[in-house]
Amino acid sequence: MINFEEAVKIISRNTLRLPATPHALADSLGYVLAESIKAKGPVPRFDSSAVDGYAVRIEDIRNASRKNPKPLPVCGKVMAGDKVIPILKKGHAIKIFTGAPIPINTNAVLMQEDTEETNGGILFSGTAERNDNIRKHGEEFSKGDMLIRRGTLITPPIIGLLASLGYQKIAVYGKPRVGLVVTGNELQSPGVKLQTGMVYDSNSIALTAAMNSLGIDPVMVRRTNDNKRSIKSALGEAMKLSDVVISAGGVSVGEHDFVKEIFTELGVKKIFWKVAIKPGKPNYFGTYGRKLVFGLPGNPVAAMVSFHQLVMPALGKMMGVENMKSPLFKAKLSTGIKKKTARLEFVRGILSRNRNGEITVTPAEGQDSHMLGGLAIANCLIHFPQESDSVEKGSLVTVEFLRWKLEHPARFWRDKISR
Ligand code: AMP
Ligand code: MG
Repeated sequence: MINFEEAVKIISRNTLRLPATPHALADSLGYVLAESIKAKGPVPRFDSSAVDGYAVRIEDIRNASRKNPKPLPVCGKVMAGDKVIPILKKGHAIKIFTGAPIPINTNAVLMQEDTEETNGGILFSGTAERNDNIRKHGEEFSKGDMLIRRGTLITPPIIGLLASLGYQKIAVYGKPRVGLVVTGNELQSPGVKLQTGMVYDSNSIALTAAMNSLGIDPVMVRRTNDNKRSIKSALGEAMKLSDVVISAGGVSVGEHDFVKEIFTELGVKKIFWKVAIKPGKPNYFGTYGRKLVFGLPGNPVAAMVSFHQLVMPALGKMMGVENMKSPLFKAKLSTGIKKKTARLEFVRGILSRNRNGEITVTPAEGQDSHMLGGLAIANCLIHFPQESDSVEKGSLVTVEFLRWKLEHPARFWRDKISR
């Protein structure tokens, strides 16, 4: 039996990032950028108005005040999208709209709300400074500025930024093809009447959802009986179709647990079986060329927690996320916990804040590995260390969020942001 950290390292060592391909920006949400993006030119491209109002020269409205409002005749109008840039005459104003190019000889824009319309002109009684309400050419980025680094998960604002820069295609890393096989004579599809001794198959639907949450649509989802021939045929097909094969169930020590032996028959190289964690002890991991093979335990909580802790990081790495390590942090335990195993336990917990503003964590009710209710209400996993058998109420424990998605800080290294 290996420990959790070793298992994570071994899986990561065997996981290769998928090749980069050009991709339509519009369809790139949830992919990871495979190229670093630099500004091709200054942004904004031209001086424009930030408001609806009047383009003026501050020289013409100096000393304006309530008592002495400055009248300015309006000598033209410019709108967003206008291609001809007007010239502002001394002592005049030009009506301007948000996004319109700044007229020549203008050095400020007055907000419409700060002016009063008069016959053929405006009255201004406030103060204005050079460049007021003007979006300056190049004020956000200069040509060559690093905007987004390769390895960044693409979010809606990143799509917006890239579109604003004129990108229509970008290079992204591929997504893994995943085949999922769940086993068990006792499994029935939700929606039909449950027969005696049977249970609803929750793993295939929950694991599919967990993949969907990463932006992955499994290429195959199959349920089989505990029968060597059907399991072998399903797993064999999954191996053909996928970059990652995930099975759930039939991987423990029972005499009907055929999955490990079938993987061997199919030519999978076993890397490990059994990890010192709870839930999830019987986890199997192997490789077939570059393909990854995960045999998850069938107990629903064990399957989900194993996916979260072992499979998700590998899928993220294949998709190009550079650091899938979950940020660990400390929280104050609100009730004592005990355990008997010499394994690292992932206790399903609920994070909140107490009256003193401290982050506290409470173990969810229903900690057995068949009790999905406890996992369903949890928002974190408490790491109950392998070597300890009890932790007292009030102690600081290590926790991580249950995330179910790729999430990592966007890595900008533009000067302005890192400063
Ligand atoms: P196994 O890992 O096959 O020994 O299964 C362990 C426990 O998990 C048994 O109680 C199974 O009935 C249950 N189980 C296995 N697969 C599923 C599934 N797909 N959905 C719900 N429960 C399952
Ligand atoms: Mg079974």
